[in-house]
Amino acid sequence: MDTHRKYMTLSEARSIECNGCGDCCDSRRTDGYWTWGSLPTDQYASINNGEPLIIPIIKSGENNDQWIDRDLLEQDQLEYSPTRFRCSAFLPQEDGRGFCGNHDAVRPEKCGEYPVNTPGIEKELLKHGEVVLNTDAFSRCAWFGVTVVLEHDNRLMMNSEHQ
Ligand code: SF4
Ligand code: SF4
Repeated sequence: MDTHRKYMTLSEARSIECNGCGDCCDSRRTDGYWTWGSLPTDQYASINNGEPLIIPIIKSGENNDQWIDRDLLEQDQLEYSPTRFRCSAFLPQEDGRGFCGNHDAVRPEKCGEYPVNTPGIEKELLKHGEVVLNTDAFSRCAWFGVTVVLEHDNRLMMNSEHQ
């Protein structure tokens, strides 16, 4: 049984606040699992004082255990390109979390969309009756293990039964 799974309506899930763990802001925090698709050729310099915001990175070193910056490739623009990245606005904290230095400025749309405001989430919910949020790589995420379901879904009762 999936003991960490929680069921919520979309409005409940949207009422949760990001806890600032920072794990979705840098691929190195998931050892390269988390990636950035559709990276524009200016790497968001237009909204970051002319400096690239999202920087592609690659593993390097004798034991392939170090991350270094790499140049932008054409394939980084593809929607599902597995571009490992770091963000120049990311501010790691001593307690292991990491804050967004651009939180009050204009950010790439996907920064505000993840994980409960992604385009088409309502449509997917209506079509399939559930949306498993893409948070399983982030055990510290405020939405870890959340599946969004419709208002009348019996699984909403399971949360209280297991408390
Ligand atoms: S702009 Fe902010 S929210 Fe977006 S990836 Fe960078 S640090 Fe994270
Ligand atoms: S992983 Fe979740 S809680 Fe952590 S910064 Fe990203 S959205 Fe916020």
